[in-house]
Amino acid sequence: MASDKRVKITLACEVCKRRNYITVKNKQNDRERMAIKKYCRWDKSHTLHRETR
Ligand SMILES: [Zn+2]
Repeated sequence: MASDKRVKITLACEVCKRRNYITVKNKQNDRERMAIKKYCRWDKSHTLHRETR
């Protein structure tokens, strides 16, 4: 049985606004919007990726 505490989120690059990653986060441990540095293949560098809906 899948837990509803894990939610699917999309991570979008702050620079080019493209949605590069889809991941799962734990709602209870992470109530804030996520922001992680990840490689963007469009910008060819590591950029900040933010959780989006
Ligand atoms: Zn980008």
